Amino acid sequence: MQLELSEERTRLREAAEQFARSALGKDLARRERTGEFDRDAWRRCAEFGVLGMPIPPQFGGMGLGLSDLLAVMEGLGRGTRDQGLLFSLNAHLWTNSIPILKFGTAQQKDKYLRPLCDGSLIGANGASEPDAGSDIFSLRTRALRDGDGYVLTGTKMFVTNAPVADLFVVYATVDPALGATGITAFIIEKGTPGLRVGRKLEKMGLRTSPMAELIMEDCRVPASQRLGREGRGVPVFECSMEWERGCILASCLGAMERQLEECLAHARSRKQFGKPIGKFQSVANRLVDMRVRLDTCRPLVYRIGELKDAGRDATTEAAIAKLHVSECYVKSCLDAIQVFGGYGYMTEQLVECDLRDSVGSTLYSGTSEIQRNIIARGLKL
Ligand SMILES: Cc1cc2nc3c(=O)[nH]c(=O)nc-3n(C[C@H](O)[C@H](O)[C@H](O)COP(=O)(O)OP(=O)(O)OC[C@H]3O[C@@H](n4cnc5c(N)ncnc54)[C@H](O)[C@@H]3O)c2cc1C
Repeated sequence: MQLELSEERTRLREAAEQFARSALGKDLARRERTGEFDRDAWRRCAEFGVLGMPIPPQFGGMGLGLSDLLAVMEGLGRGTRDQGLLFSLNAHLWTNSIPILKFGTAQQKDKYLRPLCDGSLIGANGASEPDAGSDIFSLRTRALRDGDGYVLTGTKMFVTNAPVADLFVVYATVDPALGATGITAFIIEKGTPGLRVGRKLEKMGLRTSPMAELIMEDCRVPASQRLGREGRGVPVFECSMEWERGCILASCLGAMERQLEECLAHARSRKQFGKPIGKFQSVANRLVDMRVRLDTCRPLVYRIGELKDAGRDATTEAAIAKLHVSECYVKSCLDAIQVFGGYGYMTEQLVECDLRDSVGSTLYSGTSEIQRNIIARGLKL
């Protein structure tokens, strides 16, 4: 595998970084406090093309390979501190647009992909439930067959983008006795009778990415809104998780680079005991560890791009990338606060915001423990 980005990908990453610096992250300190989503920034991202990058041109996208998109995400993560916005973009892409692209009928793709690419529709995904998290296939939302459609009833938990979303990919079971083979995916539009966004959920980090419960009460969905075959929701879910796990941390990689640069600048300029703090070996060692983490994370992320661009399975590799990058990200955020001392702990500089954002990465798209279980399965113990 190539360890260096090609010139073209480097240019893409730099363009994304520049775009993010100039167009994203406005008024972040206030919005982060109040938990406010930046819809204008979302539109700017759509104009920049991010939402359509992995979608073929016939559906309004750019048809770029995944490795190119990872370079763009890395650039965005480096160029803005608004990791909440980037998280929302990732959720939209990997758990809504991609499953529709991979499993949708011709009509579903024609109807939904173009507006998902141009920013006029925001996508979300409802899999988790109050009693089904890691054990996702124990979900209880029911989809009862009714004539030429289904009636859905149940509550989804932790739905990223729900308060602003227009289109939901939702998982329900047609018969709990069937276990995983009863699970079926549906595309549900906002405004469908019986579908409502419930309680807004306040989070520790990623606060500019809105989240809520999603409630279905006798929500009638025509069979034409089923995504994939009845009872074949598990492959839809697993496909979206493989893409999400492998790709969602590319923007965190960018954030880790920005963070290291900020820490280096601080370590060079902040003087204590008559010299820059970076001259103290225990401070330098933190910066060294941050650099080593970055260098071990980057190839794992880009390996997913190479595998998926070659049409190969990346289940284990995506779990490895997710596990390693998220845990490194949290450790580097803690190091950054230590390097900044008391200033790092104050909210005004947003150094602590990185830490709060990073903790979510060891939970979403499957916790670190679940990633380890997936990797262990690959070891055929
Ligand atoms: C920021 C964020 C965004 C999210 N966005 C979405 C979204 O858009 N849509 C959606 O459907 N969900 C979303 N989720 C939910 C997420 O997928 C779940 O939080 C996650 O899968 C864990 O489920 P849980 O929270 O119910 O924890 P639980 O499954 O209850 O786990 C609790 C603890 O037990 C451990 N554990 C559980 N089972 C095992 C096991 N077999 N082996 C070892 N340890 C185990 C877990 O690792 C964890 O430490 C989001 C979560 C977060 C934090």
